Amino acid sequence: MAGVILSEVKKQFGNVAVIKGVDLEIADGEFCVFVGPSGCGKSTLLRSIAGLEEISSGTMRIGGADMTNVGPSDRGVAMVFQSYALYPHMTVAENVGFGLRMTGHPKAEIERRTARAAAMLQLEPLLQRKPSQLSGGQRQRVAIGRAIVRDPKVFLFDEPLSNLDAALRVQMRTEITKLHQDLGVTMIYVTHDQVEAMTMADQIVVLSAGRIEQAGSPLELYHRPRNMFVAGFIGSPK
Ligand code: ADP
Ligand code: MG
Repeated sequence: MAGVILSEVKKQFGNVAVIKGVDLEIADGEFCVFVGPSGCGKSTLLRSIAGLEEISSGTMRIGGADMTNVGPSDRGVAMVFQSYALYPHMTVAENVGFGLRMTGHPKAEIERRTARAAAMLQLEPLLQRKPSQLSGGQRQRVAIGRAIVRDPKVFLFDEPLSNLDAALRVQMRTEITKLHQDLGVTMIYVTHDQVEAMTMADQIVVLSAGRIEQAGSPLELYHRPRNMFVAGFIGSPK
């Protein structure tokens, strides 16, 4: 069971409240999408779930266990960033296996998991290349590969496709949806893109100024937006 349950989660930077009390349930295996205007706290909430930000108050359960005070490497989550954050001097294979080397996994195990991730992401012909020799879409696949090798129960994506052109975004969207089906894991995905939210999500969470404005299935939000703000993001204006 790898659902995510947030209760009364708050986060302040200094005196500034950025997440102002978020309650949210994400089911095991769900594809959950966060949308909302720039600066509303999407990345901060995602980083908090990853354990990269310490929350000011509230609790977070992942996979049935209280993870509120657990470090990022022990939460069973892996994050894929918008800027791919690949190491330029390492090959694709080395980049994909990096996290496992850091945590002291045996070489054979690293090779096995790297090969599995490479097969899933069609990276096999590229394993000996450096990031500078890859296209944007290929780099994004490597970044996803780095998350896959860690075998997380929950994948977190922070606007992973926003640096890609429109055609590639459509292709990568399909690939991430397929990955979600193949792995059967929980995914939380931040995007600016309404089409991504509508086509990929089981649940869409609309955030505004550190609060959840509305959460529900794409159809619910489309047909019954609670207010103009939600309608502006996904619904049909009423
Ligand atoms: P989004 O991802 O929705 O664009 P963010 O979560 O990045 O929003 O940011 C939410 C708010 O928190 C913004 O006002 C941002 O300036 C602020 N913020 C984010 N990170 C920090 C930080 N490390 N220190 C201070 N303020 C921050
Ligand atoms: Mg952000």
